[in-house]
Amino acid sequence: MTTPRAGTHYPRSVGELHAWFRTDADCLDYLEWLRWPAGFVCSECDHHGGWRLGDGRFMCSGCGGRASVTAGTIFDRTRTPLTVWFSACWLFATGKDGIAALSLKRTLEIGSYQTAWAMLHRLRSVLVRPGRDRLAGVVEVDETYIGGEEPGLSGGRAKGKKILTGIAVEVREPRGFGRCRMLPLADASAAALHPFVKDHVEPGARIITDGWQGYSGLDKLGYVHDRRSQRAARASDEDPGKLLPAVHRVVSLAKRWLLGTHQGAVDDAHLPSYLNEFVFRFNRRHSRSRGMVFYRVLELAVAHDPVRYRDIIASHRSRAVPPTPPRARGHPPSLERPPANRPWRSVDRPSSG
Ligand SMILES: [Zn+2]
Repeated sequence: MTTPRAGTHYPRSVGELHAWFRTDADCLDYLEWLRWPAGFVCSECDHHGGWRLGDGRFMCSGCGGRASVTAGTIFDRTRTPLTVWFSACWLFATGKDGIAALSLKRTLEIGSYQTAWAMLHRLRSVLVRPGRDRLAGVVEVDETYIGGEEPGLSGGRAKGKKILTGIAVEVREPRGFGRCRMLPLADASAAALHPFVKDHVEPGARIITDGWQGYSGLDKLGYVHDRRSQRAARASDEDPGKLLPAVHRVVSLAKRWLLGTHQGAVDDAHLPSYLNEFVFRFNRRHSRSRGMVFYRVLELAVAHDPVRYRDIIASHRSRAVPPTPPRARGHPPSLERPPANRPWRSVDRPSSG
């Protein structure tokens, strides 16, 4: 497996981003290279091969079906130009803390807050790669309530519901953390915690938890279970909060991010997707290049089903004025094919990782 190279597979800087992607045709060409590295594949019949039509779409040489490279992706049926999408993706992927909808609207001069908000939600919706690797090695696991907090309310009054969230964090020797996972849990019973662990941690890993009974029985699921009792910590004058230092670190970073970047304006229905964004960025915090993260987001984006705006707003009731869904369909009318001078076209696409 080759690793994507800066300046060839993805832009190194915002200057390079704008130089590469001047028009929607440039963006379409890049998405095409990401989605179909070995040429067009029909999503209807899985046939390989087809013709490019005058409007930039492809016609399947198997079933005759027509499709654009954005069909079935988060860029499907959007009236926002792809150049704006690429800039939004760059800010989302390369910012240390991502970007809030209001900042995105102002920075890219997007017409409405609702459009900017929906773009970020579409980007968030692709971040969990199906079949991603489970955590391994030594893993701290805990559960805690997240969300429902708003800054500036007197007495730290909680508004909205907090969501019980499972957290798993790899612990590195001698120090430091690896990857993490954060997902909502139905409750703190073994019936909810055991599947959380099984879904996200490789068998054979050493799992560190507190003494909560919901974790009993992990040793029977193929894990080495290291239980740390809070009572014992108190008795030996240790801080019980330090029992699971990796979990506590990750939870406090996530809460700070929700309150800082997003000003606590995250409702329960959307908290899971914000947690996905937090985890995605946390797990790539050591990426050599931020542009690589941009590449990974677009790579995931062309592999996913589209997220319809109405699905996103289905349970979004916190705004007085409901967002108006986009009406226009199809691509912006940028049909000329891209010039030959494209760095990514000179190389094979690295396999995903
Ligand atoms: Zn076909």
